Amino acid sequence: MDNPAQKIRLIMELRRQGISNTDVLSAIERVPRDVFVPKTFKDRAYENIALPIASGQTISQPYVVAYMTQLLNLDKRRKVLEIGTGSGYQTAILARLCRRVYSIERYRNLLQAAEEQFKALKITNITTKIGDGHKGWPEQAPFDRILVTAAAEEVPEELLDQLGNEGIMILPVGRDSADQHILRVRRDGNGEVTKEALLSVRFVPMVQGVAGDS
Ligand code: SAH
Repeated sequence: MDNPAQKIRLIMELRRQGISNTDVLSAIERVPRDVFVPKTFKDRAYENIALPIASGQTISQPYVVAYMTQLLNLDKRRKVLEIGTGSGYQTAILARLCRRVYSIERYRNLLQAAEEQFKALKITNITTKIGDGHKGWPEQAPFDRILVTAAAEEVPEELLDQLGNEGIMILPVGRDSADQHILRVRRDGNGEVTKEALLSVRFVPMVQGVAGDS
């Protein structure tokens, strides 16, 4: 349930872990995480841990959500592409901090549940679709920011093509779950791309195709 004391404890822990962007911290404070987690885990919604959601997927750990969001360096002018809607929690955080979020998920049931929460929370700047995130959303490109919340072996080429100049893409990469890290990819004003390996992480894999396809 929404538990203010637990929430404050979580915010304090995130600050100690190095989350200093006050817009990011206030988004974490305002978006209720409990509505995005399954019933059986609601009492643990404000612990700093990843939790299981439907279809064998996970809602990311609050620290990782805050860390990746902080790296995106968002403001209200930005158009963001997110791959892996999952529970929709990260999407709702992004929506508070940017102009519009385009979010792609490969499981229809997860996307439907997430959309119900966006509606209940009266969030109106999220556009979603079912699809394979490797392909991005070419009709809406270029994007100022791209966030991927499932681990690919390397940076998906089509996503990189959809990142605009001065753009930032944050994604987990790695061949197996024991060897993953967050990569920050930046494209400068001349289109030049640089990549930096940051935090070690453990994400579910980015899978080819839409769920249910063979
Ligand atoms: N940000 C979500 C994380 C969910 S886990 C949250 O905090 O709730 C990662 C999600 O990526 C899963 O829902 C999974 O189904 C989705 N995913 C994996 N591969 C994908 C792909 N190729 N295209 C779109 N979504 C994908």
